Amino acid sequence: MGTHQISQQLFERAGAVVPGGVNSPVRAFGAVGGTPPFMVSGSGPYLTDADGNSYVDLVCSWGPLILGHAHPAVVEALVGAAAGGTSYGAPTPGEVELAEEIAARTPVQKVRLVNSGTEATMSAIRLARGATGRGKVVKFAGNYHGHVDALLAAAGSGVATFGLPDSPGVTGASAADTIVLPYNDIEAVERAFAESGAEIACVIAEACPANMGVVPPRDGFNARLREITARHGALLVLDEVLTGFRVSRSGWFGLEGVVPDLMTFGKVMGGGLPAAAFGGRADLMDQLAPAGPVYQAGTLSGNPLATAAGLATLRNATPEVYRHIDRAAGQVADAVGAELSAAGVPHRVQRGGSLFTVFFTDAEVVDFDGARAQDSARFAAFFHAMLDQGVYLPPAAFEAWFLSAAHDDAALDRVVSALPRAARAAAEAG
Ligand SMILES: *Cc1c(COP(=O)(O)O)cnc(C)c1O
Repeated sequence: MGTHQISQQLFERAGAVVPGGVNSPVRAFGAVGGTPPFMVSGSGPYLTDADGNSYVDLVCSWGPLILGHAHPAVVEALVGAAAGGTSYGAPTPGEVELAEEIAARTPVQKVRLVNSGTEATMSAIRLARGATGRGKVVKFAGNYHGHVDALLAAAGSGVATFGLPDSPGVTGASAADTIVLPYNDIEAVERAFAESGAEIACVIAEACPANMGVVPPRDGFNARLREITARHGALLVLDEVLTGFRVSRSGWFGLEGVVPDLMTFGKVMGGGLPAAAFGGRADLMDQLAPAGPVYQAGTLSGNPLATAAGLATLRNATPEVYRHIDRAAGQVADAVGAELSAAGVPHRVQRGGSLFTVFFTDAEVVDFDGARAQDSARFAAFFHAMLDQGVYLPPAAFEAWFLSAAHDDAALDRVVSALPRAARAAAEAG
């Protein structure tokens, strides 16, 4: 690998004008050390940084780029849309088409488009509270739903506990309405509802958690959430911002089939532009303004560039794309496991559909405490050895690795041939 001089200079300049030098914290390499490469272009499975180094990209913008970088159909749709003007502040045909595409792929009947996953979960929670007239929200430790005040609480003990804010600036009052439970622990959910059932507006969960690393729901966990919430008159919100349209044509729903009251989407449905959505049963969604009293709005919601990129992406995300990504993910996951075993590194590769995480621990990870028990020094060594060999992994141990339809044999070979050295680096870091 070449030098990173230009990236280093950019990171210094960025630090003077941007907090921490980045616009989203995990990009700063805080968990692995070193200077993040500043990217200047992407093509198919590859990224190029400001110093001219090229990488096989296993981040894919943290999920959205299911077709790879600069897919011709997405570029063409964007160029065409931009030539017609970038925003009108009025309804457009693209919004109808994108909402129809989402409704055709998932169990939701009506969809409201927003600009980020954070907005989608924030608005879904407001709607759940408005529709039920209740205040409390149940979430699970280690499940990420964006940086919504009420959802940043993640106390994560083994008992039903009233959450304390995880971040300064989140008031005790907004965190006090959040009940944080350990993931995959249905008894804790039963206890919380036995205690406070009449006050709980909704349970929100990642359909298959992937933001503490991939920690799939135990068999029947989501179905039990469905049953318990229905019994108590609370709503179930399944967050598919990350999994939606990525792990199958619909998302985790396509692999499991549990129908929640509300769903949230983002990432893939925006094709790399800022677009997200929440949706659900028509009677619930019709409680949103202007049809109903629950207010929600956005100057750039349903933006014509974002809907064009999202539609081009979804229309090209064919069954063959999902088959390819499943196959490629299996190939990389198996190769990582084999190399780490050969190097004697304790590890566990956990999969949820085509998403997978390499945990540097040998115990099965079923919740946040388990995820945090891994050896992050080994991950940092592994990460930098991969980066040096031109493979760009998520720069934190608690993340999924992402593949795309563009990851062909040449790109996958480069990943696989970088593994032995990275596995040895992980072994030496122990
Ligand atoms: C990424 C993500 C979000 C937040 O989406 P942003 O667009 O980053 O605001 C919410 N929920 C899940 C499950 C996510 O992975």
